[in-house]
Amino acid sequence: MSKVVAIDGPAGAGKSTVARLLAERCGFTYVNTGSLYRAIAWAAAGKGVDIKDLKDDFLMGLDLDYVDGKLLVNGVDPGEELRSSACSAAASFVATQPRVRQFLLPVQRNAAMKGWIVMEGRDIGSVIFPDAAYKFFVTASVEERARRRLEQNANETLTFEEIKKLISERDYQDSHRAEAPLCQAEDAVLVDTSKMSIEEVVAHLCDYISQNPREC
Ligand code: C5P
Repeated sequence: MSKVVAIDGPAGAGKSTVARLLAERCGFTYVNTGSLYRAIAWAAAGKGVDIKDLKDDFLMGLDLDYVDGKLLVNGVDPGEELRSSACSAAASFVATQPRVRQFLLPVQRNAAMKGWIVMEGRDIGSVIFPDAAYKFFVTASVEERARRRLEQNANETLTFEEIKKLISERDYQDSHRAEAPLCQAEDAVLVDTSKMSIEEVVAHLCDYISQNPREC
């Protein structure tokens, strides 16, 4: 059993905030795996590489390393650029490619070498750490996720309906790809956050972990 709390789920369900707070509370290291796919999209754009045709020599030239919880790409911190809409869309596309997922597998597995981690993504409980000590599938309705995004982004230029459409499209792309599609691992605990505050979700996960001790 790996010393991993796997948190999977669709975009915008609050996974990142929950995973970060849970890691803080438990004293574990927080690892966001979406950043890895975003980083590849970011690096490809920077080098003028076509994301539809990522070759091994491009991937092998990438050094992706977590330093103090920050992802560095060949020693550079891309910062907020990873969060742009262009990077999100490109990351979702990059993530469909088998050689990208193969390349990122050891990067993610190595992150658990130094002790307990909370790792957040789409396929952590199903593919990266099928033997994770804890697995949670954190989700929320499309309406609620669109509402949260509007509330959080004061500069949002899209309408509620447009955001809903984008979220549904990303869900579809993430859960219908051939490689490691977004899905709830059989042994994952389902957490629907539609009617819960972030605090309630974190408390729920903490309670579950403390009531279900694991030997690892
Ligand atoms: O979680 P985040 O929105 O940052 O992820 C960006 C994209 O990376 C997602 O749309 C998804 O396609 C992909 N992803 C993935 N597997 C993961 C994490 C993210 O395919 N473990």
